[in-house]
Amino acid sequence: MRLLITGGRVIDPASGVEDTLDVLVEDGQILRVGKIVQGSRLKVEGSEGRKNRKVESDEPSVPSVDRVIDATGKIVVPGLIDMHVHLREPGREDEETIASGTAAAARGGFTSICSMPNTEPVNDTASVTEYILEQAQKGGRVHVFPIGCISKGQQGQELAEMGELVAAGCVGLSDDGKSVMSADLMRRAMEYATMFDVPLLPHCEDLHLSAGGVMHEGRVSTELGLKGIPSVAEAVMVGRDILLSEYTGARLHICHVSAAESVRLIREARARGARVSGEATPHHLVLTDEAVRGFHTNTKMNPPLRSAEDVAALREALIDGTIEVIATDHAPHALAEKEIEFDDASFGIIGLETALGLILTEFYHTGLLTLPMIVERMALAPARILKLKHKGTLAPGADADITIVDPDREWVAEGQALQSKSKNTPFIGWKLKGRAAVTIVAGQVVWEAT
Ligand SMILES: [Zn+2]
Ligand SMILES: [Zn+2]
Repeated sequence: MRLLITGGRVIDPASGVEDTLDVLVEDGQILRVGKIVQGSRLKVEGSEGRKNRKVESDEPSVPSVDRVIDATGKIVVPGLIDMHVHLREPGREDEETIASGTAAAARGGFTSICSMPNTEPVNDTASVTEYILEQAQKGGRVHVFPIGCISKGQQGQELAEMGELVAAGCVGLSDDGKSVMSADLMRRAMEYATMFDVPLLPHCEDLHLSAGGVMHEGRVSTELGLKGIPSVAEAVMVGRDILLSEYTGARLHICHVSAAESVRLIREARARGARVSGEATPHHLVLTDEAVRGFHTNTKMNPPLRSAEDVAALREALIDGTIEVIATDHAPHALAEKEIEFDDASFGIIGLETALGLILTEFYHTGLLTLPMIVERMALAPARILKLKHKGTLAPGADADITIVDPDREWVAEGQALQSKSKNTPFIGWKLKGRAAVTIVAGQVVWEAT
C-alpha cells in the first residue's frame, strides 16, 4: 500500500523541515519526504528528512502508488496527538464509545489520543487496559494510548498495580477526574513511576479549597452568586507535586493548567531544571469566566474558566514554551447531565473537533504562534513526554500518522456535524478558520473533510 501526498507545505519541527515537498508513504510508514516525481520510474530528489538537502538519488523503480492526495495550498504535519481525552468506554457508552471518540479525534486532525482512566470500571487493572486496547483495535479510527490509575479505584488510598498497568500498555498514570489528596500516596506513586519511566499526569485540585465550587472564584462568581473555586486550589497542588517530583526524580506532566499562579510555579521549576511539563486546553486559552454569565452549563468545567489575567498568563506560557502541550480534556456528557441547573450540571466539555480550529483561529491567524510552534505543542511534545516511538515526526521510518491541514478554510462549528456522541461544547456556532482536511493513521485515510 503506497500513498503519495503531493505539493503540500511539509512542517516537521523534529527534523527541521519546512518546505513545499511530497511525502511518500509505504506500508504504514513514512518512506520519503522530498520532491518526488511520479512516473514509471519514481524519481526522488533529496531529503532524508533534512532541510534543504537536495540529493539526486536513483531510487529503484516504484511502479505505482495506490493513491495520490493533492495537498497543494495545504499544510502537511505529523499527526496530532491529544494527551487528555475521556472516552466513556467502558461504562458510559451512551456518552462516548472508543469508536465515536476516535471518530471525533480523526475529524479533529488527531491521529493518537490518550484515554483517561476514570471509566466505569476505572482503568486500574491490566484487564481494563487490555479491553480498551482491544476495542481501539476493533473499532477505533485513531491510535489509543491508555493512561492508568494512580490509585486503586481512584480512591486515593492504595496505589494501583502500576507495573501491571504499564506492562499492559499504559503510557502514563493519573487519577484524573479526581485529585490525589494524599501527598504520601503521590510521593510513593512517583517513586514507582521512576522505575517504569512513565510520567505522572495529576489533576491538581485541593478538594478542601475547591469544595462546593462550580466556577472560578472572583468578581464574576460574586456577582452571579455562584460558589467559587479559587485558583490557589489548583496552584497549591501544582506546587506540592513539583516539590515531590524534584524530591523523587519522577517525571511530572500537569494536566489542564488554568491559573496564573500555577504557570509561575511551573516556569520557576523548569528554570531549576525540574522534570515538569504542563498542558493547556483550548477552552482555558480562549474563554474567561465572563462566559459563565449566561449560566450555560457548557461553560462549566473543572478546572473552571479563569479570569482574564489567568488567561493572559496561560497564553504567555503557551507562547514562551513554559506550557509545552495543548490538550483538549475532551469530556463527553449526556444531555441529562448538562441541561439542568448550573449548580447541578456535570463538569466538562468535548473538545476534539474544535481544538485545531480554535488554535489556528486564535493563535496562528493572530500571529501569536507559528505553524511549527503549533505542531510542537500538538504533536511533537506529546510524543516526547509520553515516549511514543515513531510519532510526532514525519522523518523517514516514522509511523505514517499524518494530518493535512487547510489553514485558511473557514467553517462554523455545528452540532449535527459532531462525530462525538455528546454535544456539550460552548463553541457551537463559532466561526473558525482552519481545520483538518485529511487525517491519515498508519498510512490509511481515516477522515476527509468535504
Ligand atoms: Zn482533570
Ligand atoms: Zn480530564
